[in-house]
Amino acid sequence: MLRLPQWRKRAACADRPDLDFIDPGDHVPECLALCATCPVARLCLTEALDNGEVWGIWGGLDTDQREQLAHELGRPAPAIKPGHGTHRRYAKHGCRCDLCREAHNTYNRRRRQRRRTAA
Ligand code: SF4
Ligand SMILES: [Zn+2]
Repeated sequence: MLRLPQWRKRAACADRPDLDFIDPGDHVPECLALCATCPVARLCLTEALDNGEVWGIWGGLDTDQREQLAHELGRPAPAIKPGHGTHRRYAKHGCRCDLCREAHNTYNRRRRQRRRTAA
């Protein structure tokens, strides 16, 4: 199961499930206004940059603004990653969530089996 970071409990958007920050549509100004008052905006933005989030508004920045910031900071540009629960997400993107760990363990188990069969 994915564990959400503690800071999300303090997010200004935590009690606004009516606003979709990933696909905000006409609600962009409302989302940005909320981000501007959010006590954890910096943590939110850092997580988005760390994860290379492609979609939505994080820490008050949209995708283009995050791409620009990533460029200025010399960080990888936001990019679509393989889903959680895949070995590639574990190995190439360093995710250690339970789903990715399990996929990684399964991958290793099968690889060992293949080696034994080939020997
Ligand atoms: S910065 Fe915006 S998107 Fe991020 S937690 Fe705060 S209100 Fe939500
Ligand atoms: Zn994962």
